[in-house]
Amino acid sequence: MEKKRKISIIGSTGSIGTQALEVIEKLSDKFEIIALAGGSNVELLEHQAKKFSPKYLCHNAKDKTPSGLSAEILHGEEGLEQICSNKENDIILVACSGKIGLKPTLKAIKNGIDIALANKETLVMAGDIVMQKACENGVKIIPVDSEHCAIHQCIKDIKQVDKLIITASGGPFLHKSREEMQKATVKEALSHPRWHMGKKITVDSATLMNKGLEIIEAHHLFGMDYDDIEVVVHPQSIVHSAIEYKDGSVIAQLGLPSMHIPIQYAISYPERFEGIKSKSFSFAEIARLDFEKPDFEKFPALNLAYHAGKTGGSATTCLNAANEEAVFAFLDGKITLCKIVDIVEKMLSEHKVIQNPSIDEIFEVDREVREKTQNNIRKFSN
Ligand code: MG
Repeated sequence: MEKKRKISIIGSTGSIGTQALEVIEKLSDKFEIIALAGGSNVELLEHQAKKFSPKYLCHNAKDKTPSGLSAEILHGEEGLEQICSNKENDIILVACSGKIGLKPTLKAIKNGIDIALANKETLVMAGDIVMQKACENGVKIIPVDSEHCAIHQCIKDIKQVDKLIITASGGPFLHKSREEMQKATVKEALSHPRWHMGKKITVDSATLMNKGLEIIEAHHLFGMDYDDIEVVVHPQSIVHSAIEYKDGSVIAQLGLPSMHIPIQYAISYPERFEGIKSKSFSFAEIARLDFEKPDFEKFPALNLAYHAGKTGGSATTCLNAANEEAVFAFLDGKITLCKIVDIVEKMLSEHKVIQNPSIDEIFEVDREVREKTQNNIRKFSN
């Protein structure tokens, strides 16, 4: 019998984590789960543990402890560290949202464990260090983010590539006015027309900051200059991204908009299995594919991301920290949707950039910017 691939999931109760478990359930003869780590949704973690029998279960709830399980129970950051140090793992899926993805990713890299990376904030915060360490340790980082997963599938030799073309669905406000965006409620911002995702990324999709973060992510994953990374709006979300070769050939990856496909690709790479495939692809059924230039004025997040990326050093760490705090404040009803990017811009303009920051400096910048952002939000919301 073929050897099963041993996998752990950081963020198993989130949107990517639960979909990854659906894939793994379907491919139970291919994968064995070593550890599942979730946040405070202990009930769901218990349910997952009963179904998948991991050796370790890590949670972050203060008052609840999973019970009646054979798994060893771990807790918090230390637990994540323990999971990512376990060399039994062939691959770790980092599927949590936000800055908590960085430390476990670095730990896994240090231990030579390959990574399926769904957490884009890791590369936005510390892409230079993460990619360098991965290279030094011979660790593969396979992107789960659908655009980067698409590019990963298109590229044979990066040296022959002239340009990356990242598609953007445009989010719920694509054809709404800036005024309508100003008045957007949390519910409106969370109703994405194409993708069902976690709250943070859905708000990022509404401001197009998600695409901004993805530009930075692409720069690190594929080593492309920012000037050679282009964004195109493609509302149907069928073309997940494309690359243009030096000779003018353009290769794109297409598929129905389902995260099962990039998740499965990343955890199975370099193999491909018949996993969850809802229906066969039909060009005739899709009938048309539209593309348009993004509106940089309505969505200033894009330019901000290019600016932070080109500035380099700690600038993208600042962008990420300010954005994450501002998104939480929006979800809490403290600020309006458009204020998110205004605040990020202000934080970025006041940030003293450190070139080639150490990992400790990155965490320090992250902490400082978050504190400053929260203070500013208090001013905005009073
Ligand atoms: Mg994406």
